[in-house]
Amino acid sequence: MQVNIAPGFLNDEDIGTVKSIINKCVHCGFCTATCPTYQVLGDELDGPRGRIYLMKEMVEGAPVTAKTQSHLDRCLTCRNCESTCPSGVRYGRLVDIGRRYIDERVRRPLLQKMQHWLIRETLSRRTLFGGLFALARFVRPVMPATLKKKIQVVQPAGTWPVNAARHPNARQMLLHLGCVQPALMPNVDAATARVFDKLGVHLIIASEAGCCGAIRQHLNDHEGAHTQIKANIDAWWPYVEQGLDTIVINASGCGVMIKDYAELLANDAVYAEKAKRISAMTKDLSEVLPAYAPALEALVAAKQADGLPEQVTYHPPCTLQHGQKIRGAVEVLLGKLGVTVRLCNESHLCCGSAGTYSMLQPAMSQTLLDRKLTNILKTSPDEIVSGNVGCINHLQSGTELPVRHWVELIDRMI
Ligand code: SF4
Ligand code: SF4
Repeated sequence: MQVNIAPGFLNDEDIGTVKSIINKCVHCGFCTATCPTYQVLGDELDGPRGRIYLMKEMVEGAPVTAKTQSHLDRCLTCRNCESTCPSGVRYGRLVDIGRRYIDERVRRPLLQKMQHWLIRETLSRRTLFGGLFALARFVRPVMPATLKKKIQVVQPAGTWPVNAARHPNARQMLLHLGCVQPALMPNVDAATARVFDKLGVHLIIASEAGCCGAIRQHLNDHEGAHTQIKANIDAWWPYVEQGLDTIVINASGCGVMIKDYAELLANDAVYAEKAKRISAMTKDLSEVLPAYAPALEALVAAKQADGLPEQVTYHPPCTLQHGQKIRGAVEVLLGKLGVTVRLCNESHLCCGSAGTYSMLQPAMSQTLLDRKLTNILKTSPDEIVSGNVGCINHLQSGTELPVRHWVELIDRMI
């Protein structure tokens, strides 16, 4: 699509990116078929093609309103449309910038602004969130049922391996902890560390690293996100200089963001090169562990664990399958370890979690959760597994079946 940029946008640093992305769209509409919000609402403007058209009109100078803003707000940023698009339209990047443009032009109601601020300032601070979550768990017994199901029972983390001495020549990698996972699901990080320990890999945590920046980025606090990104790079850089070449990520929502650091800081005179290096060395667990499959198979055979689920249904997070374009790796690895893994019908569709979406768009989020769980339950799993803290927490809020990170399953098996 041709786009004639209005004077008011010509000096914006991202307008070149916007123009080149819109130029690629041929308006074919293939993407609408896999867009969750279009499937639920049936409105062209709640699908990717319609939203791209709204953003095109905006940068061409058409007036934007709260209605335009709400169509973009309803987008999950699941990037399913990117997987479907035959023209390689980078919709996720476009909507990220488009939302900033709209927020600069359409004032949000005060309550909504306060809600965004509260989410941003609490979720993206690990210590603060940990304290608030502990408080919420304390008062959970007297909470109404709807709130109670959002504050779930925390799986104990178990022991963290102290293996540096045991494996003097151990390979070392960095592990990114993120902001909410240590409080919500401490066992995911501990299980990751135990699995790597058994494989002779020592995971190092840079204590100064914090939230990956995704929460602020997606709530239009791009400046705040950049500050967090730079703080993380500063925290990891001394280890990079020591020769560490991998940052292991066990929450795909963080992974997709850190892989974007290179693009987000491309114009930063100080951080551009470092960001490029950090993005390149960032790997989801499902990119790292397959290389260790033979060792894991041997460990599973030696343990011959019983009491494990016979069959799991795997929910691939959008941030993994659409954001990072990683598909099939988890299923293949678990299959090699003797687990029967199924995908449910519509496994390409978002579960409705989508970062902060479940808080900001609760009705659509619940509709998508119900649809996802209905599909999952048809596969009769013993357990549901996924690879992102947000998806796991959201799915667990709607079912009594255990929902776990797939690395916890491997941890139990070995
Ligand atoms: S599938 Fe791609 S090219 Fe076609 S309308 Fe959607 S974004 Fe545009
Ligand atoms: S990112 Fe997801 S919700 Fe948004 S337009 Fe694309 S497919 Fe639809």
